[in-house]
Amino acid sequence: MSTEPASPPASLPPDTHTHTRLCRHATGEPADYARAALEAGLDTIACTDHIPFPDDPQPTIRMALEDFPLYLEMVHAAAAEVPGCRVLLGLEADHRPDLVALRHLDRLLAQDDFDIVLGSVHSGPFWDLNPDDPAATPAFVEDMWRTYFRRLTDLADSRLYDAVAHIDLPKRRGLRPPPSAIRDMVLPALDAVAEAGMAVEINTSGLLHGAQEMYCSPDILRWMAERGIPVLFGSDAHRPRDIARAFPEAVAAARAAGHTHRAEFRGRKLQLMPL
Ligand code: ZN
Ligand code: FE
Ligand code: FE
Ligand code: ZN
Repeated sequence: MSTEPASPPASLPPDTHTHTRLCRHATGEPADYARAALEAGLDTIACTDHIPFPDDPQPTIRMALEDFPLYLEMVHAAAAEVPGCRVLLGLEADHRPDLVALRHLDRLLAQDDFDIVLGSVHSGPFWDLNPDDPAATPAFVEDMWRTYFRRLTDLADSRLYDAVAHIDLPKRRGLRPPPSAIRDMVLPALDAVAEAGMAVEINTSGLLHGAQEMYCSPDILRWMAERGIPVLFGSDAHRPRDIARAFPEAVAAARAAGHTHRAEFRGRKLQLMPL
């Protein structure tokens, strides 16, 4: 029997999707997430707060552009404050044509050495349209998904991001078109993601949403494995205690879908690690 003090096993993959109080709809600072990660048995996290918008002088639900230097400072301070947990510098960037035209992301990324940039499509009726809403007809739902996956293909084609966040986000409230329609719209998007050499996250926050399952679905996880698209793991935690939420289940789902490796990013370079 060992007399060593018990320490949690560092067997879970890094949590590479977390937020901070600076986005004004989350709590905690990077150091709080790093401490929670250590307790959960992780040795690495990435801070990936929402990108500040240039046209948002008085933001209410996201980071102000003028807070961006503070964000960078807080992430670096966390790495120093919480020894034992590696804290990667990341960003969750909304893929919006107007921001792409402004080269907004490039300007922000030029301010520091980033490890990982998640690309997201957040805009669409799926955000708050409920299944019992009369507007949620089968045709509307299918069109909403199709529009989303067209934007996602454009996100991949832009080559601006390292990994896709919550890839099947339109299921957020539980609205889904028939499986055959999902297949028809997801496969071309996955081909674009594979072509771009990106990874796709398993985002466990879907378990808290009307979706009632992780992003991505078991089908999508399998289609990714078939295309050699690697997974990475994100809780999308908006409070420290949600770090690594359902990670054992997420790892099991990835393995069951045929994934033998996971993606890890340092300095925005992808490395494959055994899963
Ligand atoms: Zn958020
Ligand atoms: Fe997001
Ligand atoms: Fe997020
Ligand atoms: Zn997110």
